[in-house]
Amino acid sequence: MTKKRVKIAVAALAVALLASLCACSVVVDGTDVTDYTGVQYTTYEFFNTNTTVSCYLPAKDADRLRSLWDGEIREKLSEISSLLSQDGENSDVRAFNAAEEGATLRIDAVTYEVLTLAKQAYSDTDGAFNPALALSVDLWGFSTRFNKSDYSPSKPYDRENFRSELPDESYVNAFLSLADFSGTEIYAEGDGYYIKKSSDVAEVDGVVYTQQLDLSGIGKGYAADAIAEILRENGFAFGYVDIGSSSMSLMKNARKEAGAELGEWTVSVLSPTESGKYYFKSYVKDSSLSTSGSYQQFYEIGGRRYSHIIDPFTGEPYQSDVLTASVFGESAALCDAYSTAFCVLGSEKAVALAGKLEGYTYTVAVSTDQGFDVLSNAKGKRV
Ligand code: AMP
Ligand code: MG
Repeated sequence: MTKKRVKIAVAALAVALLASLCACSVVVDGTDVTDYTGVQYTTYEFFNTNTTVSCYLPAKDADRLRSLWDGEIREKLSEISSLLSQDGENSDVRAFNAAEEGATLRIDAVTYEVLTLAKQAYSDTDGAFNPALALSVDLWGFSTRFNKSDYSPSKPYDRENFRSELPDESYVNAFLSLADFSGTEIYAEGDGYYIKKSSDVAEVDGVVYTQQLDLSGIGKGYAADAIAEILRENGFAFGYVDIGSSSMSLMKNARKEAGAELGEWTVSVLSPTESGKYYFKSYVKDSSLSTSGSYQQFYEIGGRRYSHIIDPFTGEPYQSDVLTASVFGESAALCDAYSTAFCVLGSEKAVALAGKLEGYTYTVAVSTDQGFDVLSNAKGKRV
């Protein structure tokens, strides 16, 4: 864990926390924030990535934020990330994945809430966001086990060189047949929450497979929402939460930034083609955003890019014209799910879908022969 007094920069998706410190008084939405100071905490303990909480506050509240970070916030992050992880001891996802077809399992309220949002995103995106693709994600070499330095083939479908050798088509089809998320039931009964696994099975080379879940396309967004809620409940209204530099929940900014309105953050979105550069500058206040794209995790074989986002209609890494998509709106969890779906859908369908998502805006980089074009209805501009 690191703690930094923020005088100037915060890197994130990226948020340019340009502190134009001036002697004049600054009042944002009725609060005088002239004397507020910046405090930032970062940890790499959860979701295999960074979690950053950055706040502006009166100096007298700094200790209170510190206790919140050390206590409630870290506990919440730990709870969410372990319940949703593929292999955590008390993971609901792990228990689901290990259960027999048709089994009913009791799950935590947090898992139920994430699954409810996942069901909504599945329905809103006509199935493009689909958390039942875990086996396909694993088949193509994008589960967390592949990031470990001691990876060695252990499943019947594993390849020694999983980034240069394609999987067998019989597995692609079998795992696709298990990805019907409408066959997964979730419900609340009495004081408990439950999930009933689809009764589908698929057999390849004498081995029987059942449906598996992967909630990493929505979990970080959900966690950003949850932590921002803790901050707000405790009276911290100036700052933001960044998880993995891909999902953010932003409150108000206490510093006036050039080009942005008072209270807004300037959030820059990474270019899908130029490493370390940004292609879009957005202005966000009291809202969230998430970004997905084929440039985040991928390998190339025979000139084709294989990325970590799976097209639920083919069972293969998606191949649309969307290089990267960012979605802005109230729920970071839904922004997270929608941005993944936008990649799968391609620009035409994504823009059509966006028209139906009330309260959500987007920025999409669409591949062209020259590089990419930008389609956007979000507050901001191409840079
Ligand atoms: P994100 O980085 O938010 O776009 O989420 C991508 C991650 O979600 C991948 O690494 C997979 O673990 C999982 N995933 C892949 N394809 C999909 C999909 N079509 N719908 C939901 N989750 C997916
Ligand atoms: Mg996502």
